[in-house]
Amino acid sequence: MSEFFQIRCPACGVKLNAKFRHIGKTKNCPKCGADVFVPEPPNSLESGGLQGAGAEGVAAASASLPNESISLRPAQLEFHDRYFILGKDRIVAVWQGGEGWKVNVGSGFAPARSNQTAIPDNGVFAFVHLVCTDGIPSALEIHRISSRGALMAIVRDENAVLNRLEEKTELSPEQKDVLMRYMRQIYMVDVLDQAKDVLDSLSIIEANSV
Ligand SMILES: [Zn+2]
Repeated sequence: MSEFFQIRCPACGVKLNAKFRHIGKTKNCPKCGADVFVPEPPNSLESGGLQGAGAEGVAAASASLPNESISLRPAQLEFHDRYFILGKDRIVAVWQGGEGWKVNVGSGFAPARSNQTAIPDNGVFAFVHLVCTDGIPSALEIHRISSRGALMAIVRDENAVLNRLEEKTELSPEQKDVLMRYMRQIYMVDVLDQAKDVLDSLSIIEANSV
């Protein structure tokens, strides 16, 4: 049974993955920021097997967890955004709407489905969501992926990896550098000129440079 169930943001309509512990709470939509009340799952089939975690149990459990580190997550990759999975010092996979996940095969990027051997099966990875507004990169959201085989999810179903994301993380200087270089390859200069916030967050400022 999945620990997630899907709801929709009433404001922007994006599909979101909610956790059972979110039931009865109001969270922010990760896409548009609107308040999203998390109702009971639509049918009991989805909560089957969730012994002892009725609404009261969940409410009690979440009341004892005032610090909500787990937020609502999109259930689907956003068509107009871009996604990158970074290893220690290289880009492992990229996603662009319509093309699906592609993996780094050394000479370039090729469909994940037919190049599974290029996917590392362990390690710690950074899942980077490049939020785009009108085609301009506007924000970066970075989550850790470390569970074994989580990366293989990109072969089976392009959205499945969203259920494997762990806590938010930051990119290392090496990762910032590879992502910056890749963005310079894929975006025209005039687009990058308008993506200052994202580029600023990727620029590596040496501690002694001021
Ligand atoms: Zn929304």
